[in-house]
Amino acid sequence: MTEWSAQDCNRIVVVQGDITRENVDAIVNAANRSLLGGGGVDGAIHRAAGPGLLEECRQLGGCDTGQAKITRGYQLPAEWVIHTVGPVWRGGTHGEADLLASCYRNSLALAVGKGVRRIAFPAISTGVYRFPLERATRIAVRSVLRFLSAEPRIEEVRFVCFDSRTYTVYREVVDEFCSEPCP
Ligand code: ADP
Repeated sequence: MTEWSAQDCNRIVVVQGDITRENVDAIVNAANRSLLGGGGVDGAIHRAAGPGLLEECRQLGGCDTGQAKITRGYQLPAEWVIHTVGPVWRGGTHGEADLLASCYRNSLALAVGKGVRRIAFPAISTGVYRFPLERATRIAVRSVLRFLSAEPRIEEVRFVCFDSRTYTVYREVVDEFCSEPCP
């Protein structure tokens, strides 16, 4: 028996693009523990949201790896930003896989608490934090599908892939996890 159903798979969308342009209720930021902004997707989100976001983040006192915190979206199309801190890849023996799965679970739990129905994730930890892309993608998709199978209130989870390599890997992993089992 699989852990998730075709209906759960139908709530996942993979797109290539810039997450700051997503018209969803919440976007997830791959932040660092300071929550005070950085490069990559973090920098793009802060630039697009405007200075109000940094002001609110200053009040949060940082965030531990694997955890998540939520703010308003300010000038973004999204109402909320969920800041989660992915693990830095240190060879895979320092709990990286569990911490990355926690990022997805904790972000989705915060989203449900705010009544979010549509949410977009970047490929957490796969940039500057160097988590191997295929492993990270399998963790991302599996964590989200497990969460969706237990939580009907999230209608759509969008994986927003910045580059074509990430997009291709996400498509392959979603196809693999969501293909019909052999009769
Ligand atoms: P981390 O420090 O968690 O590795 P990065 O921001 O360095 O975070 O990279 C995470 C992923 O986000 C990478 O795939 C990167 O290409 C991607 N990314 C960068 N900018 C954007 C953006 N504007 N929208 C969506 N994804 C982005």
